[in-house]
Amino acid sequence: MSKDVGELLKYGDVVLSLDLFPAEDQGTLDIKLRELLTTNNKKKFQNALPDFIPKAIAPVVIDLSNMNKDIQCSNITREERLKLVGLLKAMPLHVHKLLGTEKAIVTSGGVALSEVDFKTMRSRLFPNLYLIGDILNIDRPSGGYSLQLCWTTGFVAGTAAAKKSNDV
Ligand SMILES: Cc1cc2nc3c(=O)[nH]c(=O)nc-3n(C[C@H](O)[C@H](O)[C@H](O)COP(=O)(O)OP(=O)(O)OC[C@H]3O[C@@H](n4cnc5c(N)ncnc54)[C@H](O)[C@@H]3O)c2cc1C
Repeated sequence: MSKDVGELLKYGDVVLSLDLFPAEDQGTLDIKLRELLTTNNKKKFQNALPDFIPKAIAPVVIDLSNMNKDIQCSNITREERLKLVGLLKAMPLHVHKLLGTEKAIVTSGGVALSEVDFKTMRSRLFPNLYLIGDILNIDRPSGGYSLQLCWTTGFVAGTAAAKKSNDV
């Protein structure tokens, strides 16, 4: 989503909303949180929360909740608990900037797709030039799509180029 975020950053900070429990609705999550608080009623909330959410996020959630860091589970009010549920379902993440091309895994831009014959990956402008992978202007999500793109287009280009040289 960094492309969209990059566009929006032109207008100011961007806030992402992270749902830490996408499979639970607010009601079910509230029941689970209540169970956690009851089971750990003698513990400090900060020591019980890492059983519920990833350890590294727990202090951030406590910070965002504005609750006393040392509060005991049994002392958490209904209001505070419901606020916590809201936070776990929509944790705000403020984006101030992108990390730039140094850290980029995928970047936008490249050769316009209208200039490429996708049956062979050959340039429509320069007949002996084949264009594959990252050099193409294709936006894609991360998660293997980039490697798939370079392997597939590389295979198509290699096959077409070999065929062309055999035909000569
Ligand atoms: C940190 C990182 C993590 C990534 N993780 C993933 C991932 O998990 N999954 C996924 O799908 N994709 C991932 N990618 C993206 C993926 O690696 C690229 O999309 C893919 O490698 C692109 O392949 P390519 O052959 O098009 O280009 P490249 O792999 O960049 O190959 C281009 C080659 O051309 C060479 N070259 C450049 N200029 C010249 C020149 N003038 N003469 C001769 N050679 C030249 C370069 O040295 C390079 O070896 C990641 C990328 C980065 C940077």
